Amino acid sequence: MLGKVKYNRGSQVDLKVFRLDLHIHTVLSPCTELAEMTPRAIVRAALDRDLDMIAVCDHNSARNTSATRRSAEGTRLVVIPGIEVTSAEEVHILGLFPSDVAAEKVQEEIYARLLGMNDEDVFGYQVVVDEHDQVEDLDQRLLIGATTLQVEKVVRMIHEFEGYAVASHIDRQGFGIFSQLGFIPPGLGLDALEVSRQSDFDAARSRYPQCRDYSLITGSDAHFLDDIGSAVTLARMAEPTFEELGKALAGVDGREVLKGKTL
Ligand SMILES: [Zn+2]
Ligand SMILES: [Zn+2]
Repeated sequence: MLGKVKYNRGSQVDLKVFRLDLHIHTVLSPCTELAEMTPRAIVRAALDRDLDMIAVCDHNSARNTSATRRSAEGTRLVVIPGIEVTSAEEVHILGLFPSDVAAEKVQEEIYARLLGMNDEDVFGYQVVVDEHDQVEDLDQRLLIGATTLQVEKVVRMIHEFEGYAVASHIDRQGFGIFSQLGFIPPGLGLDALEVSRQSDFDAARSRYPQCRDYSLITGSDAHFLDDIGSAVTLARMAEPTFEELGKALAGVDGREVLKGKTL
């Protein structure tokens, strides 16, 4: 927790500034360093970097989210289950969910729309682990690939399961909404845009004027332990919960996303 307590007139609630990294991959993402991004190691790194809330967002899967959340039990770290969905147009969209069950239901929908199998020699292993970092399974699906879901359907599906939909790394040349579509389709209903750690909010707003219509967050997109917390979103909230995060993204009741901070 950072910053001063702010008295929020009207609601009688003390709001504080919390440190969030809402885009972290685990060993389930084939591009991570093998055996490095395990639940226990991620939780330890997040606490070391004074984070209050993280989201685990693997490519097209939530199979390591509940293990990471369980691994953080008894600590002050809040772990939000997430999935980084690849749309048919190869746009990456983060889905952040209120519960493991919601994330797992979305995962079922995604798995029914994924094509092909993983080639472990080319892409690497996709390791499913428990909260003690014990290997439970190797996922054989081509998680790194695109789903057959158009971006509108991805956002609608995330909302159907009461999640928040955030366009990933919008400033990147690959897999960002602007690089893939050229613009944000009207009425898409995104809850926020994520600016990568290589950029900052002001640069994103001046390069992509549509950014001014959305809340911006940043995240590390960590594939290595050292990257965790390398980009942090500061959010003013009553407490680090999924519901409060939604209010901060919507900018209601005095809650707000203040800025991204690249460390
Ligand atoms: Zn991505
Ligand atoms: Zn990512």
